[in-house]
Amino acid sequence: ALITFEGLDGTGKSTQARRLARWLERQGVPVLHTRQPGGTAAGRRMRAIVLGHERRGVRLAPEAELLLMMADRAQHVSEVVRPALEEGRWVISERFADSSVAYQAWGLGIDAELVERLNRLATGGLVPDLTLWLDLPSGVLPGRRQRPRRDRIEGRDEGFFARVREGYLALAAAHPERIVRLDVTGSSRDRVEALVRTAVMERLG
Ligand code: C5P
Repeated sequence: ALITFEGLDGTGKSTQARRLARWLERQGVPVLHTRQPGGTAAGRRMRAIVLGHERRGVRLAPEAELLLMMADRAQHVSEVVRPALEEGRWVISERFADSSVAYQAWGLGIDAELVERLNRLATGGLVPDLTLWLDLPSGVLPGRRQRPRRDRIEGRDEGFFARVREGYLALAAAHPERIVRLDVTGSSRDRVEALVRTAVMERLG
């Protein structure tokens, strides 16, 4: 099974993905925990380009950002995700194709149909069995050790993150069979972990 975590920066995706992976391992499920962007050696270089560009005073064109995300995704699916699924492992990915719909289509304003076509190319049509969307409707970031990177935040216009969230709302409405919204407002990590487990048990048995 392929399980993905989605949501804005700072909503706890990494923590919850790690906890879910550990829990599944304790149940005897073979698990691979990975991420996009940056789940392969090539992807880590692409991630560094996307995240580092503003620090060096160079604005990456939105189209370039989109294509780097897609290149990262294509490599990640072919090198890591598919082989693990074929071995019978459960794959938990922090971010997947939905992130590009939310960030590059809704956030940056690139045509959503084009983004979805490129996603199909990059994933070879692989669709998650379950997507856990960690949502913060108020937009207030919970306390986290690792604040969102300044360079990313500063490079974004005022409405960017609100548009990204709108994108996730639209995705969840379009794919209710796959996407579960978990409202993490004011919830402890343990509470969110319990919600995640419940969703996994309900949807994947
Ligand atoms: O969640 P993660 O730390 O991997 O994301 C790295 C940065 O890239 C974040 O600031 C996130 O907002 C951004 N990102 C993006 N478009 C994507 C995926 C991530 O702008 N498709």
